[in-house]
Amino acid sequence: MPKPIKFLALSFLFVASSVPAQTTRPDAEKQLARDVYKQFVEIPSGFTTGSTTPVAEAAAARLKAAGFSDKDIFLGGANPKKSNIVIRYHGTGKHKPLLLLAHIDVVEAKREDWSIDPFQLLEKDGYFYGRGTGDDKAQAAIWIANLIQYKREGFVPDRDLIIALTADEEGGGPFNGVDWLIKNHRDLIDAEFCLNEGGWGEIIDGKHVANYLQVSEKYVMNFRLEVRNKGGHSSLPVADNAIYHLAGALTRLAGFGFALKTNEVTSAYFRRMGELSTGPEKQDLLKVADGSQEAMQRVAAMAPAYNSTLRTTCVATMLEGGHAVNALPQLAAANVNCRVLPEDSPEYVEETLKKVFADDQVSVKKFGDPGRGPSSPLRPDVLDAATRITSKMWPGVTVVPNMVMGATDGRSLRVAGIPTYGIQGIFIDRNDVRFHGRDERILVQSFYEGQAFLYDVVKLLAKPSN
Ligand SMILES: [Zn+2]
Repeated sequence: MPKPIKFLALSFLFVASSVPAQTTRPDAEKQLARDVYKQFVEIPSGFTTGSTTPVAEAAAARLKAAGFSDKDIFLGGANPKKSNIVIRYHGTGKHKPLLLLAHIDVVEAKREDWSIDPFQLLEKDGYFYGRGTGDDKAQAAIWIANLIQYKREGFVPDRDLIIALTADEEGGGPFNGVDWLIKNHRDLIDAEFCLNEGGWGEIIDGKHVANYLQVSEKYVMNFRLEVRNKGGHSSLPVADNAIYHLAGALTRLAGFGFALKTNEVTSAYFRRMGELSTGPEKQDLLKVADGSQEAMQRVAAMAPAYNSTLRTTCVATMLEGGHAVNALPQLAAANVNCRVLPEDSPEYVEETLKKVFADDQVSVKKFGDPGRGPSSPLRPDVLDAATRITSKMWPGVTVVPNMVMGATDGRSLRVAGIPTYGIQGIFIDRNDVRFHGRDERILVQSFYEGQAFLYDVVKLLAKPSN
């Protein structure tokens, strides 16, 4: 009776595939991750008002209680309030280590600006609320909880796993934990490659759509524009006025746009976005991937995020000038902040700006370290592990390599020769991104799914035969 058997087999297959994929870890592991998360979120670790040291110490205490030895745990940082923690989990040493990074400082949060206490983990209506719930204490807690679980299981990877929870990613000051570790303890974090924040999952209209794998970043340049003038009495104005010179230069900047273009990463990104899109923009997104200038013009006009993906941007962010209400200004100055595509050089940006300003009264000085970093090569094992686990957990969801507009610690690591990949598997609604803002939150389900996703991805990368 071949026919009924076939039917039976088909219906069995149908039943099997319609069982929802297991997208979270067992309850005891979820509880551990939640406990660590709560502890981390409830320690204020803002740049000026808090400290990362108690977070690092809390992690150390948990690891010691779980049987990690003192010699595999390092605590230290640029000053006593800026501790980082580095933990080594030993493998067979067949391959170079894998570094798992998360920052444990947070953007400042004032109680009066929030509707709830930013430093209490609140679980409400399916969300976890609190400063750092998304950026970046979820990933920090997940790394710790999963590492403790690997130890309980007796997991032996082909390479050491190194977790680094670090200070001052947000502060951008002299105490940045990753920079400090690279400079002072490179051996502790030296790795073949690294997983970090910067990639997340996107929910559109309630559906999981794309899981981003961040492989490159724009870099930052700042310019100070200055016009100096002998000034004089305001009752005797002359055409040569510092404020007018500066205003003219900034007005020309407002009307200027850098060339629209794609690179390997962004054209792959637009192709995937086009494939995923069901709206009228679908054809234009696909044409952008093929290099169409007309389509790039339309797509850039569609959303600031698309515009920033397609070009270097420079924008006026601060202004100062004049010294008295009744005096001609002797000084007018502005800050211009640029987010530069990895393939555009700092010299190109500076030369272009000077041409746009087109006024030799306006002096243009760049300051700070642009810290231009290379993109990470699209490692097949990383893409493959992310793709396999993504398809297993969320059938139909694709992994989309991308470039981010902001900067993360991944930049310093890439400059230091450690390719870094932003990947979290934590899904966020496209219209509910609250990082750095008030009432920061992520979905409770997304937190636990991120835990399960990273648990599997790390195991695959650390022991491919697993
Ligand atoms: Zn962050």
